Amino acid sequence: MRTDWRKLFQDHGAIWLHDGRPSRPHALLTSGLHSDGFVNCTFVTQQPEVVKRILAEQDGLGTRLPREKVDWVVGSAFGAITLAYAVAAHIGARAAFTEKDGNGMRLARFEIGPEEQVLVVEDTVSTGGSTLKTIEGLQQNGVAAADILPQIVCLVNRSGVDRLGERELRALIKLDIHVWPPAECPLCKGGSQALRPKTHWKELTS
Ligand SMILES: [Zn+2]
Repeated sequence: MRTDWRKLFQDHGAIWLHDGRPSRPHALLTSGLHSDGFVNCTFVTQQPEVVKRILAEQDGLGTRLPREKVDWVVGSAFGAITLAYAVAAHIGARAAFTEKDGNGMRLARFEIGPEEQVLVVEDTVSTGGSTLKTIEGLQQNGVAAADILPQIVCLVNRSGVDRLGERELRALIKLDIHVWPPAECPLCKGGSQALRPKTHWKELTS
């Protein structure tokens, strides 16, 4: 039996999607934008047993992993640290993370050797900005672009694109989520209320 990953994430509160009915509230994001969906993978990645299932099950994330040799799995802090660790454990590689450094990301605590192959993973790809910064940070810390695998593996891709730069995005779940400035939000125009998901989870999901 195949697991419905989207439903599993919804059941754990990691994905919420507006059902299209104007009487239902929609999401007010931290950025101030309004949205018909909300993703917070923490509710899934905090559960090691669920992450193990995601990697091990048929049609899970394990099947999206590249077949090439991987020496390091790198995620960006903090969201992708646990996923990088779990993927590394699954394939027998080492795990590392990049962390914020001004506007960019840097590899501060790990030394990746020459010609070691690096797989970049992400929990949620929204715009792809932080993933691209992680790739830049790796290169600034001496990792050759050619040693960063041409696939990026993530739990949720809500970016609407299948590539980041020259690399292919492979996701467990692909979502079509929209964001609007408040003045242009069609859900507001339809009479739906904008609520912050973290403090109004019950209203959004009831
Ligand atoms: Zn709105």
